[in-house]
Amino acid sequence: MAKPTLLPDPTCLHLQLLDASGSAITARVTTTSTEEACPLCHRSSSRIHSRYVRAVADLPWMGCAVHLELYVRRFFCTNSECLRQIFTERLPTVVSPYARRTMRLTDVFIMYHQKRIFCQVRKRIDLKNPLAGLPTHMLGNEPACAPRAKICH
Ligand SMILES: [Zn+2]
Repeated sequence: MAKPTLLPDPTCLHLQLLDASGSAITARVTTTSTEEACPLCHRSSSRIHSRYVRAVADLPWMGCAVHLELYVRRFFCTNSECLRQIFTERLPTVVSPYARRTMRLTDVFIMYHQKRIFCQVRKRIDLKNPLAGLPTHMLGNEPACAPRAKICH
């Protein structure tokens, strides 16, 4: 199991500011790389086109919601033959493109729902008679579907 960290991936993110006012915690975070590879032609570029802020939810701290103000950059692709002239830096260990929550928060949601579904299924199964909850056609007492109609030619 990975060691818990304040930021989703401290190797590529830098914490600029932490604001704990109100009932939520906001972390202003920037990326640390100096260049980024174009997702289309894979050529690295350090020519920054612009920056923008992504609002991303992260794991809560002691019951308080955590919001990342993630400052990401758009780069110019320096390959004159590439079809993409501008691209946004990717953070595959932090957040998926267009996602509104971090990868680790998504993982927790998935684990929670898997556990919830497992508990629901387990409640339905009677441990003394594990077949009690199954429909009768699954027990072999009745055919799975109605008998086929006789086809007359
Ligand atoms: Zn390119």
